[in-house]
Amino acid sequence: MPLQTLKGFRDVLPADQAARDYVSSSIRRTFKRFGYAAITTPTIEYSDVILGKYGDEADKLVFSFTDRGGREVSLRYDQTVPTARFLANNQSQLPQYFRRYQIQNVFRADKPQKGRYREFTQCDCDIFGSTSPVADAEILAVFYQAYADLGLKDIQILINDRQTLIATLQPLATNQVSVMSIIQSIDKLDKQPLEEVAKELIAKGLTHSAADQALAAINKADKSVNLRQIEQFSTALGVPANQLVFQPTLARGLDYYTGLIFEAVLPTSGSSSLGGGGRYDQLIEQLANIKMPAVGFGIGFDRTVEVCQQQGLLPSNIGQLDAVVITATDNAIEHSLSTATKLRNQDLRVSVLPTTNQSNLGKQLQIAEQQGARFAIIIGEDEAQNETVTLKNLASREQVTVGLEEAVGQIKANS
Ligand code: AMP
Repeated sequence: MPLQTLKGFRDVLPADQAARDYVSSSIRRTFKRFGYAAITTPTIEYSDVILGKYGDEADKLVFSFTDRGGREVSLRYDQTVPTARFLANNQSQLPQYFRRYQIQNVFRADKPQKGRYREFTQCDCDIFGSTSPVADAEILAVFYQAYADLGLKDIQILINDRQTLIATLQPLATNQVSVMSIIQSIDKLDKQPLEEVAKELIAKGLTHSAADQALAAINKADKSVNLRQIEQFSTALGVPANQLVFQPTLARGLDYYTGLIFEAVLPTSGSSSLGGGGRYDQLIEQLANIKMPAVGFGIGFDRTVEVCQQQGLLPSNIGQLDAVVITATDNAIEHSLSTATKLRNQDLRVSVLPTTNQSNLGKQLQIAEQQGARFAIIIGEDEAQNETVTLKNLASREQVTVGLEEAVGQIKANS
């Protein structure tokens, strides 16, 4: 099947790409407003960097292979671990309380299904070097604001504290079943019934009663003092208090979290999360022996774009051509080309049909429509001589012959 894409990997068509570009610029704008600077890290890292940070279940989803030089390498599973490596390598060039954002593709050998791909994009923000709840609160505020700026105002941010989970579950852990392994199972509670999660814990080696106790205990856990403080600060930073929802069963599957953990969900769109994050104070030390506390998030870009599309939050004309310049007679081609240049100088999106055979005006108008243009600008002999253009609105079919300036005005007024 050489002409198919691999399972879980996708082509993106122009309309979807336009939507993605729009959402991505909005997210970047939000990130920059909070003072986050963009970085880029390589797609492939040494496997030693990537593996052993996420936990057994996630490690199995890392795309790893031996390169042609015999090196063990892995594709990026998330952006947090490569950034931890980046920080260790470049620390001397970075300011204190470094805030970085990163929008790149990540790769996971997940089982492909709707909204679950093997290559997808994450939009991350992290702040490094602070253990203060002010940093946690800021991260929640950027996270909330990125969705709010897209118009996703009814987002709910589920929050919990890893320390509470660890304290609650540690007494039930055994030599065979670590507290992290229990947390990885608990993490499935939003997708699987309680009994299934209990079964998994028992299969891992907990007794019946320990499994039941674990599930009962986390449901009863209280909001930590740390979490209360973070909530208070994030409200001051603009996160509506009623959109932060304490969820004691929220676990986040990855091993590296050490404090605040959170996920964004839309009450209207099932259980899958749009993004998530948390505090990870030991990851960078584990990688590079540098004490560097950190807190951050990853927005699941693909799901966010899909939700924006479903909710009609994207302008209808994104990616749309403003006009196609059509030449009605062969000897007006140069006039058409210079007209297109003038229109582009007015910041309009304009194409010219790349043909020198201008005989069939009807066909050319059809192509203009196929290209999704809002207007056709028709240049014939009269227009070339009189310095005018014929402006045809391709939706209403109305057409007028006017000066170029007037045409620009009408195109802009109609956008
Ligand atoms: P995680 O790093 O697993 O917390 O993921 C953060 C966000 O990325 C999730 O909330 C999802 O929106 C998105 N995400 C995770 N896995 C996938 C996937 N396989 N395909 C598409 N989006 C995903």
